[in-house]
Amino acid sequence: MDFVEELKRRGLKVTPQRIAVLRIISQGGHFSGEQIYDTLKKNEPSISLSTVYNTLETLKQTGLLRSFEANGVTWYEVNKGSHVNVFCTDTNTIIDANVDLKSIEDKLEEMGFKVSMLSVIAYAECKEVRRRKVVENQPI
Ligand SMILES: [Zn+2]
Repeated sequence: MDFVEELKRRGLKVTPQRIAVLRIISQGGHFSGEQIYDTLKKNEPSISLSTVYNTLETLKQTGLLRSFEANGVTWYEVNKGSHVNVFCTDTNTIIDANVDLKSIEDKLEEMGFKVSMLSVIAYAECKEVRRRKVVENQPI
């Protein structure tokens, strides 16, 4: 992702904070504001948590990022289209699952809604955890 181009294309001023936040979040995965703040603080001790949140919200408003709530935390990720965010209740991590959500969107449109963002969060035990459990429970 060319961060400078992406910001300009969306009519945003290119600021060091925006670039720094995008650099972290574009590595992939899901981040809370605190996680991004903790990472940025190491190189930029003067940065504040509210600056990080304001930056995240601005980037979200342009459609570059999206956010969702899971387990009482707001998570941010690069907006890469419809998918299910699976929150693993054992490891507290979020895994992307490519599930076709088109039928839900279509159904909602049929009902007269214009869907701008569909957010699906599943709470589940992840495969890794289940595999580990199977191994642990095997007789020796
Ligand atoms: Zn995701």
